[in-house]
Amino acid sequence: MRRAVLTMFVFSLAAGAGLGGELPVRGLHVSAPMPDDLELAERFIKEVLPAQGVNVLVMSFGYRVQYESHPEVAEENSLSLEQVRRLGAWCREAGVRLIPEINLLGHQSWRERTYGLLRAHPEFDETPGKYPNNEGIYCRSYCPRHPKVHEVIFDLIDELTLAAEADGFHAGMDEVFILADPDCPRCQGEDPAVLFAEEVRRIHTHLARRGLEMWMWSDRFLDGAVTGIGKWQASLNGTQAAIRDVPRDIVMCDWHYRRAEPTAAYFASHGFPVVSSPWRDASVALDQLRMIRLARENASPELASLFRGVLQTTWAPFRSFVEAYEGKTSAGLNALQAAECFRELFARLRGAGLTHATSAPPASAPQ
Ligand SMILES: [Zn+2]
Repeated sequence: MRRAVLTMFVFSLAAGAGLGGELPVRGLHVSAPMPDDLELAERFIKEVLPAQGVNVLVMSFGYRVQYESHPEVAEENSLSLEQVRRLGAWCREAGVRLIPEINLLGHQSWRERTYGLLRAHPEFDETPGKYPNNEGIYCRSYCPRHPKVHEVIFDLIDELTLAAEADGFHAGMDEVFILADPDCPRCQGEDPAVLFAEEVRRIHTHLARRGLEMWMWSDRFLDGAVTGIGKWQASLNGTQAAIRDVPRDIVMCDWHYRRAEPTAAYFASHGFPVVSSPWRDASVALDQLRMIRLARENASPELASLFRGVLQTTWAPFRSFVEAYEGKTSAGLNALQAAECFRELFARLRGAGLTHATSAPPASAPQ
C-alpha cells in the first residue's frame, strides 16, 4: 500500500514538474567561444545543454565580435557575425534561449588591458588620462553622460542581437566602481544612484524599442553596508537607491558565490523578476535553489512568479569550462569547480520530483 501511494505521489510530482522542475529559468552563463572553438561549442550546445536541462544560455561576447557598424572596437580573434548567427541557430535547435551580453558601463578593462570600446574611443572614458596602465583601479568605466557613447553601444547591441536572433540582452553592469568621477565635467558632483539609474533606463529604453528583454547583474542595487555583503556583491559606492528608479521588468541576476544571501526576495518584493547566480561552490548553489523553490512554494502567485530560477556562472574561457566539464584536470581549478557546481545544481534541478518525494512522504503513508 505504502509503495503504491508513494509511486503515485512520485509520478504526480514528476509529471507536474517535468525536466528541470518547476523553474522557468535554468540558465548557464558562459564566455563566447573563440572562433577556433566553434565545433566544440556546437557539440556542447546541442548535446550537453539539453541533457543537463539548461534552457537559457547567457553568452558574454563583449567586443569579441567583428561588428560592422564599428569595426574599430573589435578585439583580435573575434567572431564574425555569421559565426554569432550559427551560435544562435544551434541554441534554437537545442531548445535553449540565447541571451547575448556586452558588459556595459563598468568592466571596460581587465588588469592592464583596456577593452575595445575605450581603446578605440578614449574620449568615452570616465577617467581619461588617469590611471596609466590601469594601475590602482579595478576596471575602467565609460562616461554614461558622454553625448556620443550610446550611438556606438546601441549599434553593437543591435548587430549582436540581430545576428543571434535573440529576444533578450544582458547588459552586465556589475561591480561599477568608477562612477561620478570628480574630474569628469559631465558627472562630477552627481549622485551615483542618479547616474546609475539614468544609464539603466537609457539602455532599457533602447532594448524595449527593439522588443528585447533586459537582463543585468544586480549588485549595484544592494546596500553593501546595511546587508554586510560588502562592496563587490553589493554597493558601497552610493548606487543602491537606483533600485527605486529603474523599470520593473529587468531580470535581475543576483550573484553570490560564498553564501546564499537571501537577496532574491529583496528584488522580487520590489517587483523585479530575479534569478540566483552561483559560481563554483555547489553548497551555495543548492542553498540558492532551495531558497528560490521555498519562495515559489510559499509566496502569493504574483510574488512567486518573480522567482524565475537560477543562472550558473562559469568565469572561465569557454574552452576551459567545457574541458573541465569533460573532466580534464588541465582546465584549471576555477573551471573544474564551476563545472562540478554546474553538474550538481542541474542534477538537483532534474531530480526535482524524486527529491521532494523521498524527503516528504505523504501524510497518508503508514508509519
Ligand atoms: Zn562622466
